[in-house]
Amino acid sequence: SSSVSDLPLKNSSEKTGSKVILKNMNYCELEKWVQSHGYRPGQALMLWKRLYGNNLWALCSDELEGLNKDFRKMLGELAAFKALSLKDVLTASDGTRKVWRSQILFKLEDGSVIETVVIPKSGRNTVCVSSQVGCGMNCQFCFTGRMGLMRNLTVAEIVEQAVFARRLLSSEIGSITNVVFMGMGEPLHNIDNVLKAASIMVDVQGLQFSPNKVTVSTSGLVPQLRRFLHESNCALAVSLNATTDEVRNWIMPINRKYNLALLLGTLREELRTKHKYKVLFEYVMLAGVNDSMDDAKRLVDLVQDIPCKVNLLTFNPHKGSPFKPTSEKKMIEFRNALAEAGCVVLLRPSRGDDQMAACGQLGKPGEIEAPR
Ligand code: SF4
Repeated sequence: SSSVSDLPLKNSSEKTGSKVILKNMNYCELEKWVQSHGYRPGQALMLWKRLYGNNLWALCSDELEGLNKDFRKMLGELAAFKALSLKDVLTASDGTRKVWRSQILFKLEDGSVIETVVIPKSGRNTVCVSSQVGCGMNCQFCFTGRMGLMRNLTVAEIVEQAVFARRLLSSEIGSITNVVFMGMGEPLHNIDNVLKAASIMVDVQGLQFSPNKVTVSTSGLVPQLRRFLHESNCALAVSLNATTDEVRNWIMPINRKYNLALLLGTLREELRTKHKYKVLFEYVMLAGVNDSMDDAKRLVDLVQDIPCKVNLLTFNPHKGSPFKPTSEKKMIEFRNALAEAGCVVLLRPSRGDDQMAACGQLGKPGEIEAPR
């Protein structure tokens, strides 16, 4: 699997039929396109606000009230407003909170299905978006990893997951403030589209997510991670999950290409020049694999001098998985060892609250777990 990050990938084309997909464009591109059809930049801005602005989220040319009639007609003929078709919304709730998790399933033009998850929490509603159909990274603890990689999602397919989440759920749960790229796929394997989608999400005239509330998670593609840190101000999470190359080579094959020393060395170096920036290390705890007190000690040494937080996560077992979750008691001991050594460490042992276990750990599309 040494070339997992170099797989040839087919991107679906910019156009659907003869129509231009509006959400594949950033604001500059949309403005140019609108002008090339004889309309003013001000009209491009109005369109942009209809697509992404609060309580508008237009998904067809009929939802463009207030726009010039000719402009709407042109858009109706030449532009596609939608990249995703809604397939299902599965909402789970418990007795104490109304909704604790919503899973939105979308069908893509080519028939594949992707999922988006919304996790409400007072003051911080999070949408978890997918970046690929399947994933080529083959992490051993991950359900998506077993599917293999089908294709990258387009910019429009990524952005529209956040648009749909707001459109479907804002009135019920309030504003969705956070985005995590922790659904299906390795986001940095689709870096061009992910960078562009993230830049659209943080646009102040549009979706207005704050850059530090948009988190891209990676299994550790080092060159892409470097590029991400140079080109984006959004937050970065790195799925670490092991403290030796031996274990990481096994559970995350990408480590055979970019080992721990290279990964952490790169972060140490890059974060030196990124003012007030912290990386989030995700550490899924697997019983008997990465949860010993020696692991805790090694972890402290590995992340030393890297401005970071460590997030200890409960493994969410799926059918056929050889791994088991670490007990809560052991997780607390592990957490305490890290905290005593001066690490900023978070532990959320209760599954299904506001956490994502790691990218791709959401389970099988269409299956939703009952809360514990
Ligand atoms: Fe891909 Fe993330 Fe799953 Fe690894 S954990 S296989 S990178 S989706």
